Amino acid sequence: MSRKILIVDDLATNRIILKVKLNAACHETLQAVDGASALKIARADQPKLILLDMMLPDISGIDVCRKLRADPLTRHIPIVIITASGDRQSRLNALKAGADEFLTKPLNEVILLARIRSLLRAHETESELRQRSETWGDLTMAESETVFTMPGHVGLVAGDPAVAMNWRNALAPHLQERISILSPTAALTDSPSGAVPDIYLISADLGTHGSGLRLIADLRSREQSRHAEIALVLPEAEPDAAAMALDVGANDLLPLPLDPQETALRVTMHIERKRRADQLRRAVSQGLRLAITDPLTGLFNRRYALANLDRIATQAHEKGRRFAVMLLDLDRFKLVNDTYGHGAGDAVLETVAERLRDNLRPSDLVARIGGEEFLVVLPDATMGTAHVAAERLCRVIGDVPVPLPDEKGTVEVTISVGLALGPDLHPEPREPAAIARDTLARADAALLAAKSEGRNQVTIASAA
Ligand code: GH3
Ligand code: MG
Ligand code: MG
Repeated sequence: MSRKILIVDDLATNRIILKVKLNAACHETLQAVDGASALKIARADQPKLILLDMMLPDISGIDVCRKLRADPLTRHIPIVIITASGDRQSRLNALKAGADEFLTKPLNEVILLARIRSLLRAHETESELRQRSETWGDLTMAESETVFTMPGHVGLVAGDPAVAMNWRNALAPHLQERISILSPTAALTDSPSGAVPDIYLISADLGTHGSGLRLIADLRSREQSRHAEIALVLPEAEPDAAAMALDVGANDLLPLPLDPQETALRVTMHIERKRRADQLRRAVSQGLRLAITDPLTGLFNRRYALANLDRIATQAHEKGRRFAVMLLDLDRFKLVNDTYGHGAGDAVLETVAERLRDNLRPSDLVARIGGEEFLVVLPDATMGTAHVAAERLCRVIGDVPVPLPDEKGTVEVTISVGLALGPDLHPEPREPAAIARDTLARADAALLAAKSEGRNQVTIASAA
């Protein structure tokens, strides 16, 4: 992606004025003199934002906007339409065509630059999420489609409840979404999930000067409203407050008196943007979860476990404490598969994983690191506590037969455990990663010994 802003205007003087303003704010620019070249440059150079004049010699700015939105290559680029005439129908048309913002000449420089900062911030967050979620593929697409059919939730916050009531009455005919009226305190109070608005419309003046701005900052700092869209409602004559609002985290500004139709269009656009971002966030977190877990048992996988073992070794090293490593391997498991089939074998692995997890503390690490091999790490352990834990795990698997799927009875399963404590006494100081590897190797040797000494038992590693 180019880091440049594309200026589209047929008049050279207009382009130069914008270029100077943007350069002064450290933005690099590209220029286009008509709609056709704007579309071409947008596709080829991927500008970070487009300032688009409404009146162009070939196609109208509105059509350019529509075409940019229809093209997957340019769909996500923020667009600000700029025009000399601020008539209402043009604003509505621009928003309907997919513009993020509509500014009227003469441009207020403070507002223009704050708008650009705000749009770039939102856009960067979204494209970063998109990149991360693409790493994991379209894992959550099926799940997210159902979410789209649910109505959104709009929260109105005004100093005077009667004002909020007026807003609601004006907006309701134009919106499918649920609209609720919140006091400033209620907006900041934790509410059950689902009750949190997707977008807040906040009056700039909630009773004391600057209170709307403070509420925006508070909402941004709170877990449950961090990702909500926020629009500040304020008199047009307050450009400084408006710019400040964008900089503390508002996504939009709505001038008083509220135009119900325009507000509804903007609210709908924000709710769609929020849903896209929510969907991407879910894809990222699900992708992360899948990348570190074993799909059959839900335990951590080998890669994660080994990385985490290194971390535990480092912490133990720093605190001068010891940690325990156990390798657990199912005994004669091939026989289970051969007798009852692979599906039954899988079910046994799931039950074993469940019993291991249920008999360890949340701070312990338990992972499936091979077909029928598990790793358990107890941070901050002594040989005494680790040995007791290992014996307990051996018994919870071996003492109670494991049920087979489809009511096919049960099967007796046992495990062998190799146990080692790290760090071992060693003549020279070593890196935590080396200590982790060494402890794992000693646990592995102990596991082999447990197998050769008859299985279904715990063997403690001898000193290196
Ligand atoms: P030992 O007591 O010496 O460990 O004997 P064993 O049969 O458990 O060991 P071996 O390494 O010979 O065989 C391991 C078997 O584990 C082979 C395979 O059938 C089974 N296995 C490994 N991964 C899976 C899995 O994901 N699902 C199922 N059902 N079986 C698995
Ligand atoms: Mg085995
Ligand atoms: Mg094995």
